[in-house]
Amino acid sequence: MLERGELANSWRHERWDSLTLLTPNWQSRLPGFGYDGPDPDGYMTAADVVELIGRFAVHARSPVRTGTEVRSVRHCDDGYRLATSQGEILSRTVVIATGACNRPVVPAFAEAVPQGLEQLTPFEYRNPSRLPDGGVLVVGASATGVQLAAELSQSGRPVVLSVGEHVRLPRTYRDRDVLWWMDASGVWDQRYDEVDDLTRARRLPSPQLVGTPERLTLDLNALTAMGVELVGRWAAVRDGRALFSGGLRNVFSLADLKMERLLDVFDEWARTDGGNPEVAAPERFEPTAVPQSARMELDLRSGEVQAILWATGFRPEYQWLDVPVFDAKGQLRHEGGAVDSPGLYALGLPVLRRRKSTFIHGIEDDAREVIDQLSGYLADAPLG
Ligand SMILES: Cc1cc2nc3c(=O)[nH]c(=O)nc-3n(C[C@H](O)[C@H](O)[C@H](O)COP(=O)(O)OP(=O)(O)OC[C@H]3O[C@@H](n4cnc5c(N)ncnc54)[C@H](O)[C@@H]3O)c2cc1C
Repeated sequence: MLERGELANSWRHERWDSLTLLTPNWQSRLPGFGYDGPDPDGYMTAADVVELIGRFAVHARSPVRTGTEVRSVRHCDDGYRLATSQGEILSRTVVIATGACNRPVVPAFAEAVPQGLEQLTPFEYRNPSRLPDGGVLVVGASATGVQLAAELSQSGRPVVLSVGEHVRLPRTYRDRDVLWWMDASGVWDQRYDEVDDLTRARRLPSPQLVGTPERLTLDLNALTAMGVELVGRWAAVRDGRALFSGGLRNVFSLADLKMERLLDVFDEWARTDGGNPEVAAPERFEPTAVPQSARMELDLRSGEVQAILWATGFRPEYQWLDVPVFDAKGQLRHEGGAVDSPGLYALGLPVLRRRKSTFIHGIEDDAREVIDQLSGYLADAPLG
C-alpha cells in the first residue's frame, strides 16, 4: 500500500477544524472493525477518524509505505510499472484507492473575480478567523457549503449562499438518524447495476447534513433562520458582478420533492419489509422557503463580501495514471471497479458498486467483491 503522505492523509490535512462526520459513529466501520466506543449515535471529528484509521491499520496489519508518492503507472508486459518517489515497482495488478476528493472543483469564471477578493476552497479553509473581516459568499449548498455557511454566519459575518442543485435531508426522521433509514431500508446498498441513471447517480451532490450532538437539521430553512441570504446558482461574472440564476423556486421544489419521495420509500419499507420497526409516526417537513426577492447579482467590488468560499465539489486526480482508461469527461472507465485495462481496479469512487461506495462504511462490501475479481484475474492469468 503506497501513500504519498501520512496514514489517513486526507483526514489530517484536507479538512477544516470544526468538521465532524455526517455519518454516525456506528457507521464508521471498516472491514471486520466495527465501532466499539461509548457513543454509537455521535459523530466523529477528523482527529477521531485519523485515530480510527490508525487503529485499523494495526488491526489489519496493513503494509503501508507512507511518504511514497506514485508519479506514474504504465502498462507493461507483466502488469504495471510504477514510478514512485521511492523508486520503481513492478506489479501484476494495481488497485487505485487514491480517493474521489483529491482536488476541490472551482468554476472557470473564478478567474474573472476582481483582484483583492480572497478566494478559498475547503482545502484551504480552516476556521472563520482565516478569512478577512466582512461578508462571505459561499458557493454551493451541499454538505460542505451548508456547514461552512452556518459556521461563518454563527461567527457573526454576513453570509450569502449561492444554491444550485442539492440533496435535502432531515438529520432525523421518525426519531432515527436519517442514515439509519438509508441503511435499514436498503437504499444505500442499491447496486450500481440497479441504478436507473448511473451517470447521474455518480454526479449527485453530497446531502445537506451535519453531525452535531443536538442532531441539528441543516437544510436551507435552518440557514435562512440563522440569517444566511440565499441566492441562485452562480452562473457568470460580468463587469465585476456575480450573476446568479433565477428559478430558486424550482430548484427548491425539486429538492423537496426528492426528499419526500425518499421518505415515502422509508415509510413503505417500514410498513412492509421492515416489519414495523419501533419508530415514531411518519412526518413531513415544511417546504423550503423561497426568499421574497432573491437578488440576481452581487457587486463584487462593493466591499459587501470580502471573501469567496468555493464549496463547489471535489474531483479525483489521475495525472499520474499513464494508462488510456478515461472517458471524454476525464472519468475513469470501469465496470463496478474493474478498470478498462487488465489487472487494474479501483475503489472508493461514487456509486462504484453501491450507493454507499464513497462513504467509510461503504468500503467493506466493495473491497470484498473487487478483491475477489482481482484474485480471479491472478488465478486465471498465471505468470508466463
Ligand atoms: C469534506 C469531506 C467530508 C467527508 N465526510 C464524510 C463522512 O462524514 N462520512 C464518510 O463516510 N465519508 C465522508 N467523506 C468521504 C471520505 O473522503 C471517504 O469516506 C474516505 O475518506 C475515502 O477514503 P479513501 O481512502 O477512498 O480516500 P482518501 O481518504 O481521499 O484517501 C486517498 C489517499 O490516497 C493518497 N494518494 C492520492 N494520490 C496518491 C498518489 N499519486 N500516490 C500515493 N498516494 C496517493 C492520498 O494522500 C490519500 O491519503 C468526506 C469527504 C470529504 C472531502
